[in-house]
Amino acid sequence: MKYQALPLVERKRDGGRLEAAEIGDLVAAYVGGDVPDYQMAAFLMAVTIRGMDFDETAALTGAMLRSGRTVDISARRPLVDKHSTGGVGDKTSLVAVPLLAALGFCVPKLSGRGLGHTGGTLDKLESIPGLRTSLDPAEFATLVSRYGLAIAAQSEDIVPADRLLYALRDATGTVPSLPLIAASIMSKKLAVSSRLVLLDVKVGEGAFFPDESSAAAFAQLAIRLGETFGRDTRAILTHMDAPLGQAVGNALEVREAVACLRGEGPADLREVAVALAGEALHAVHGVARAHALSRAAEALDGGAALEVFRRWIPSQGGDVTYLDQPDRWPEAAARGALAAREDGFVGAIHARAVGEAARLAGAGRLRKEDDVDPAAGVEIAVAPGGRVRPGDEIMRVHASSLEQLAAALARLDGAVEIAAEPPRAAETVLCAYDKSGRREEW
Ligand code: URA
Repeated sequence: MKYQALPLVERKRDGGRLEAAEIGDLVAAYVGGDVPDYQMAAFLMAVTIRGMDFDETAALTGAMLRSGRTVDISARRPLVDKHSTGGVGDKTSLVAVPLLAALGFCVPKLSGRGLGHTGGTLDKLESIPGLRTSLDPAEFATLVSRYGLAIAAQSEDIVPADRLLYALRDATGTVPSLPLIAASIMSKKLAVSSRLVLLDVKVGEGAFFPDESSAAAFAQLAIRLGETFGRDTRAILTHMDAPLGQAVGNALEVREAVACLRGEGPADLREVAVALAGEALHAVHGVARAHALSRAAEALDGGAALEVFRRWIPSQGGDVTYLDQPDRWPEAAARGALAAREDGFVGAIHARAVGEAARLAGAGRLRKEDDVDPAAGVEIAVAPGGRVRPGDEIMRVHASSLEQLAAALARLDGAVEIAAEPPRAAETVLCAYDKSGRREEW
C-alpha cells in the first residue's frame, strides 16, 4: 500500500502528538514524492496552529537533516555559522559573514529565500548578476576553505526537505511557527560542520517573534536542539520593529550592505553585524565581550571585510564590477513615492507593512512558482528622527508593474508615523543567550 499521510494530518489537527518514526517517515515520503503538496500543507498548518513538543521538534529537525547529505569541511580556521530568524531589510549576513571571515573564521552558510514578509539572503545575493547560490557539496567546501566563506542554498543534496518545505510554507501562511522555524534553521546549520552556530533572533512586529518572551523561547529551543545534536549554539536578540537600515528589496539591500562594508552604511546594520562577529570572538576565543566588539568594529571600519567580500563574490560567479557602478543595476519598471501629509519628525516605521509592501512590489513571492524581481523594493528616504514637511518624499517604491506599485503604495498607507518630537533611539541588540540557554545582558 502507498504511504498514507492523512492519519498524521488528522492527529495533529486534533492536538495529538506524533512519534519520531512517524515524523521521519512523513518527511522521507514527502521528499520522495509520495505525499502531495496539499496534504503536506495541511500538516504544516496543523503544526502552526497546534505546535510540537521538544521531542517532535527534534525528530523533525533530524528527519530534515537526514533527507540529504552532510557537508564536512576541513579548514585550518574555526568554522562559525550564522543565521537570522528573518526580518525586514535584514541584509546582516552580507556584512557579518565577510566580517567573520576577515576576523579569521571560516563561514560555511546555507541560507534561505524570502519567507513571508521577510527577505532571504539567497534572493539578495542572486540580484548580483552572475552569482550562483546552488553549489554542490564539494564546491561549497572548497570555496569555504579557499575564501573563508560560501553562501549556498539547500539543494537536492543538502537538506532537500527544507528546500521543499520552505517554499511550501512561504505560499501557505505556515511560516510563523516556532517548531517549523527551529527545525528549518537548525537542520540547515547541522548539515554543515561548524564549531559554533550563532543565531540572530529578531524581535518585534517585523519579525516572526513579536515580543522578547517568544524570541527567548525560540532562542532556548534552538540552543537545546543544538545541544541535542552536539553543536555549540548561541543567540543574540535584536530589534525588528522598524526595517533594518533604509533599503528593503534584493538589489537595494546588496547596495546598502556594500555601503556598510565601505563604512558608509546605516548604524543599526553595522551594530548587528559587529555584535555577531564580536560574539564569535567571545565564544570561540574567550575574548572579553567589550574587546571582542571593538576588534570586530575595527575589521569592518578598516575595510578588511570589504576586501574579503570583493574576493568572494567572483568565486560564486558574481560580477563584482556592479559593486562599484550603482548606475548599472537594472531599474524596476514602475516607481512611485509615499509623501508626508503632515509637518513633523518621522517616528515609527512599521516593518511588517514595509516588508509586505516590498513583497507586493515584486521583491518576494506570493506563490511558490513566482520569480522575484531583483530591482523591486522599498527605500526609506527619511529615517526615523528625520524632519519632514507636507509633500516631502518619505519612501520610494520600486515595483515590477504599475499594478504592483499601486498595491505596494496602498499597503504603505499608515506605515509611517509622524510625531511632533523626534523619537527616542531604540536599542538594536537586546541581550544574548549562551550555549546553556542562559540570558546574558548585552
Ligand atoms: N529562516 C529559515 O531558514 N527558516 C525559517 O523557517 C525562518 C527563517
